[in-house]
Amino acid sequence: MLDGWTGKISNENNSQPAKPKAALPLVSRDARTNTIVRVKSVAIGGSEAVVMAGPCSVESREQVVSTALAIKKSGAVILRGGAYKPRTSPYDFQGLGLDGLRLLREAGDIADLPVITEVMSEEDVPAICDYADMLQIGARNMQNFALLRKIARTNKPVLLKRGASATVKEWLAAAEYLLHGGNEQVVLCERGIKSFDSALRNTLDLASVALVKEMTHLPVIVDPSHATGKRSLISATAKAAIAVGADGVIVEVHPQPEIALSDSAQQLTFEGFSELMENLQAPLRRIAFSRELAVLA
Ligand code: PEP
Ligand code: MN
Repeated sequence: MLDGWTGKISNENNSQPAKPKAALPLVSRDARTNTIVRVKSVAIGGSEAVVMAGPCSVESREQVVSTALAIKKSGAVILRGGAYKPRTSPYDFQGLGLDGLRLLREAGDIADLPVITEVMSEEDVPAICDYADMLQIGARNMQNFALLRKIARTNKPVLLKRGASATVKEWLAAAEYLLHGGNEQVVLCERGIKSFDSALRNTLDLASVALVKEMTHLPVIVDPSHATGKRSLISATAKAAIAVGADGVIVEVHPQPEIALSDSAQQLTFEGFSELMENLQAPLRRIAFSRELAVLA
């Protein structure tokens, strides 16, 4: 399905990696059956679609603990929260760093949820590995190859977001770096791409989710929060994501979105998240049923 390389298979000076016959042999669906990525006791890519949720940024103990308890009650299985934030302006809130990591871990432990957080820099990898159960590579770092190589050498599951201007091939090639470097626990995340239309923050590319599910054995989830930037559209787009075959969604939730230090317009209230989960129950059950049938067939 993926193009073959045209170059030589082995390299004479041996300083470069040998090129395989297929362009991306490790992520390609031809390589193996569906990968199930495990984050503590949570399985991503199996018969049940998963919901990860939490604040855009960890802001305070009260904020992240109350959010963890609220999302757990509504049925989320992984807590998200940014401690190192990739902000467009250097004058915007940059995250609480190590203090944020500690608070996220504490909130996860209180609510009994595994935690995921973004890694922006190679130098932060060891500290983040001490606190997080899953590492997030953000859209802006999808092609930070040094960071990909470093994270490939950890034993943590990884969420690899699609770059806002990345093609499907570039996204899969970034995942190939992780597998090639030794980390096979990789989940892909579509989070919207740039387009000509400024009506929404980004353009949610759901056709590519269905396409990538055909091309790779890795699980694929969708981030409707960053894709739309608009609270009122999260429910519709999350349902659509599950309908096209996504293995889950990751959603931003905040106790008081109107005073959030980042991404205020797209974060759901606790009540909004609880409604979303009610709306998702039927699609989630349907997909679980159809996947069980597919396994039996
Ligand atoms: C995030 O999830 O906090 C984030 C910054 O997302 P993205 O990398 O998709 O912009
Ligand atoms: Mn955000």
